[in-house]
Amino acid sequence: MNKDQFLSRRRALLAGAAVLGAAGAAGAAHLLTADPDPPGRSAAAPAAGAKANRAALKPSAYRLQPIAGYGPARTRPARPLVRHEPFLRMSGHGRSMVLTFDDGPDPRYTPDILRTLKAHDVRAMFFVCGERAVDGKDMLREMAEEGHVVGNHTWSHPLLTRLSPHAIRSEIERTSDIIEEAYGERPAWFRAPYGGWNRAAFRLCAELGMEPLGWTVDTLDWRAPGSDTIERRVINGAAPGVVVLSHDAGGNRSQSVRALRDYLPRLLDSGYHVTVPRRQYT
Ligand SMILES: [Zn+2]
Repeated sequence: MNKDQFLSRRRALLAGAAVLGAAGAAGAAHLLTADPDPPGRSAAAPAAGAKANRAALKPSAYRLQPIAGYGPARTRPARPLVRHEPFLRMSGHGRSMVLTFDDGPDPRYTPDILRTLKAHDVRAMFFVCGERAVDGKDMLREMAEEGHVVGNHTWSHPLLTRLSPHAIRSEIERTSDIIEEAYGERPAWFRAPYGGWNRAAFRLCAELGMEPLGWTVDTLDWRAPGSDTIERRVINGAAPGVVVLSHDAGGNRSQSVRALRDYLPRLLDSGYHVTVPRRQYT
């Protein structure tokens, strides 16, 4: 596949609409469209039993309409707005959820997570660190080819509030460079390590063409509480619009890998649509 074919396939995978909202923000300026049902879905082979189960549970409401106040793609600004808080959840449109995996890629765990997502034909988000991505570009390419969203999680995972604006820029820009080297596109999403946001980070996000994403449910999987506990946190936290935080690197993540295998089919069987956001402003 040449680069143009690849990019148009990416665009096709990411076409669609669902909604993300920042914490407590009801205004249209804090809502984003996301992708509830990428065209790529039907092309892949889903788990047969899960698919049949889901078909019965899938209302047409998941096929979302553009939000009032936002026009079609051509009227959106070329850059995101400077936000004052990260998006923390999807807002008000059906039983959609977003799964996010941070700190990777890691060849010990990321491929397992990709396999599970593929087996269930769902898309997720991976917030990668540049210093790990530099030796894992093949995994980034695979993520992109399978319709997942690769986000920027800085180069070395520092607490940004302790860095100068210049150092923050370097952390973020270098990571976007590596992502672009991996599959030809710069990331549209950024997540601050430890959820440590500041004004410089929000400003740079907008300048570098990214939206800030936080999370709704923290699995605390990095504490290795046991895969059953991680699974229970996801299932108990499941609700329309929830963004789940877990990790595919940064330590032994075998519990996170195992938990996903268990909670993902449960979410799908309960009628949740596991999806990824779509960049709003291009
Ligand atoms: Zn992190």
